[in-house]
Amino acid sequence: MEKRQFQTESKKLLDMMINSIYTHKEIFLRELISNASDAIDKRYFKSLTMPECGLNRDEYEILISADEENRILKISDNGCGMTAEELENNLGTIAKSGSFDFKSENSADNVDIIGQFGVGFYSAFMVAEKVTVVSKVYGAEKAYKWESEGVDGYTLEECEKDSVGTEITLHIKPDSEEEDYCEFLEQYSIQRLVKKYSDYIHYPIKMDFEVNKPVEGKEGETEKVIERRTLNSITPLWKKPAAEVTEEEYNNFYTSSFMDYEPPIKVMHYKQEGTVEYTALLYVPSHAPFDYYSKNYEKGLRLYSSGVMVMDRCDEMLPDYFSFVKGLIDSSDISLNISRETLQQDHQLRTIAKAVEKKIKSELQKLMETDREKYEKFYKAFGSQLKFGVYSDYGTHKELLQDLIMFTSSNEMKYTTLKEYVSRMPEAQKSIYYACGDTAEKALKLPQAAAVIAKGYEVLLLTEDVDEFTLKTMMTYEDKKFVNVSTDELDLATEEETKKLEKENKSGKKLLDFIKESVGGLNSVKFSNAIGDHPAALSSEGGMSIEMARVLSKMPDADGGLKASLVLEINSTHPITEKIKELFETDKEKCAKYCKLLYAQARLLSGLEIENAEEFSGLISELMV
Ligand code: ADP
Ligand code: MG
Repeated sequence: MEKRQFQTESKKLLDMMINSIYTHKEIFLRELISNASDAIDKRYFKSLTMPECGLNRDEYEILISADEENRILKISDNGCGMTAEELENNLGTIAKSGSFDFKSENSADNVDIIGQFGVGFYSAFMVAEKVTVVSKVYGAEKAYKWESEGVDGYTLEECEKDSVGTEITLHIKPDSEEEDYCEFLEQYSIQRLVKKYSDYIHYPIKMDFEVNKPVEGKEGETEKVIERRTLNSITPLWKKPAAEVTEEEYNNFYTSSFMDYEPPIKVMHYKQEGTVEYTALLYVPSHAPFDYYSKNYEKGLRLYSSGVMVMDRCDEMLPDYFSFVKGLIDSSDISLNISRETLQQDHQLRTIAKAVEKKIKSELQKLMETDREKYEKFYKAFGSQLKFGVYSDYGTHKELLQDLIMFTSSNEMKYTTLKEYVSRMPEAQKSIYYACGDTAEKALKLPQAAAVIAKGYEVLLLTEDVDEFTLKTMMTYEDKKFVNVSTDELDLATEEETKKLEKENKSGKKLLDFIKESVGGLNSVKFSNAIGDHPAALSSEGGMSIEMARVLSKMPDADGGLKASLVLEINSTHPITEKIKELFETDKEKCAKYCKLLYAQARLLSGLEIENAEEFSGLISELMV
């Protein structure tokens, strides 16, 4: 028989498919099932105006049969079928995609046909050494058989077929050292693949199973019978109206689809209409996955194109700060043949991603306002990620995220949002104060924090590495500056107090210089009235706080050059100050030792280690004996 040649582009594509090293060879089944489903759509659509060519709605089906012994997999449908010419055009030529033509001819919006490019069918050659397509259209006498073993070309001839539709026969490749194809012949793995990729195709996908059934009337005896089972769920959960889905259904779908054993803390299910249309089913987990804060965690949403899964995890759909969200997007605007390469340029996808981001934000906001307890649970699991989101990309997303973040506050030691904090600020308070420590309790006990609280102001207690960087990135909230209480930015003194201190610092300059000299490593030493009852405390000057320097020095690429400019603040009203002044006149050596001890105390209060523990211990013992 005459061998016909594939069109050049098709040949290239075919060659690619045959020699594919694509790891997801299994998607061929999804492609063929989608084509079958498209074909049924077409027949169904035509029958709306030409009833005689259609079937009853419930008669449409896709049938799969596998013959392991002969390595044959068949996929048949009772869709529109193809004429000889269509077989030639649709399967011999990629440029001419049948469903693409159909779509532009019938611009009616109700034709829901997947796939705009004709690469799908050839994926069969990833797993088959020979593909046979037998097809018949309504009203034709004859059926036609198209057959190909690859790039050499294909044959087309007349044949017999009883019913309208298409039957595709794959002669599955032999198993080799590198590759096993037999799984595509095993009933249970076929069932798994259908579930995975085509669960929500809206026609039944059926397969015959051989099962052992008890023989009626004969106790204990079984017989082999063939049972035709439907493999797919048909109506996707997310395509049902939200009001008809129970919480249990949502949760079951979540735990079975997204590898979590606990139900989610929040479900978002909605349909977006407008310039881009999509349905989203999104979940916020109730706890962070074990690898969430590691490099191994992979974010992303599953993509469906009209019920057909096209990508398991599309990371472009989620910004990093919402990477904890799990779920799926289904849209007829997503192409069935979308690939990782074309993803970035895909305008539709970007628009959807933007809309999804907005939705997640507003839903989290709503959760915060309506169910604080749940929100706090969520925040404990994923709050760091939100704070990191504010900080990353030079603060580009701060507007979006600033009302979702919370910090523990000195006010009842509870989580507070920035909005709440500001709403409680007394009129005289100009800035938002915060203190850093390993724990909220430790931060609360910083000498400077105590002084701010004593003034009747609230202090945010920052405990995580990212916290201060987050606030530094924001710089202000509602025009209120963030002020770290242990830096020179803290300015609570009245004009009068400031003047008095300035005078004291001036007259005590010799002593202060002496202290700076004896202690070493300090940027300056000054008298202060903002450290409560403590004799001394540490603070910093310039942009780098003690906490930031501590965090940065922990970074893997820290070069040790990142240091805070330390200031030793001495409480001018504390009795120890009198003592030091006295010693400065009478016994400089002892005075120097006392200063070192004061500095050590201040370090401890700031949550820093004592630099020279041996010296410290020696000085203390000296005092005690
Ligand atoms: P696409 O589905 O994107 O159009 P494919 O390569 O998957 O591209 O299929 C090419 C064309 O072959 C389809 O557009 C369709 O016209 C035709 N076709 C494939 N499978 C079938 C089928 N089972 N029934 C009828 N037509 C089919
Ligand atoms: Mg297709």
